[in-house]
Amino acid sequence: MLTGIFTPTACAECKLCCNFHRSSAWETPALQNEQIFLLQEMCVPLEKRLDGTTSFYLHFTSNDENEVANCPVLNPCNGCMLPREQRPFECRIWPVRIMRDKSTLVVGIYEQCPALASDGFEKLKKHTLENLLPQILDYARREPNAVREFNSAYKIIWRA
Ligand code: SF4
Ligand code: SF4
Repeated sequence: MLTGIFTPTACAECKLCCNFHRSSAWETPALQNEQIFLLQEMCVPLEKRLDGTTSFYLHFTSNDENEVANCPVLNPCNGCMLPREQRPFECRIWPVRIMRDKSTLVVGIYEQCPALASDGFEKLKKHTLENLLPQILDYARREPNAVREFNSAYKIIWRA
């Protein structure tokens, strides 16, 4: 969905959103049924979360809080192994995220994404508000458990 705003090269070099510290393991993307079936066929390890969603199981090898684990479908050389249209919705719209701020839905952009330098933030904001918002709200309606609590690392661009 964000092709044209993010270059594959920038993301291949960064991969920030596909690697998780133990403390941010809850940030792994919520999977929809179509991805769950596909990933089970690929024997990718998954786990059920307390919020009722299913996500990737991260393979940590120690108790070190600073250890980082890859998403299990991240190829360190080539990036995500899933075809773009089969990636979790959260991955397809990242660094945009829908969140819940108390009882209100908000859409925010993760400002620290390196690809947003220069005019990237404003381009992404415009693209999100003009093109993506209906799909994002539909996702929130279909997958209410996957909507996360507001985090101040995101700059809010839309509020219900
Ligand atoms: S944080 Fe931004 S630049 Fe880095 S991989 Fe994610 S979308 Fe790409
Ligand atoms: S599914 Fe793909 S894009 Fe999403 S976190 Fe895993 S490797 Fe990254």
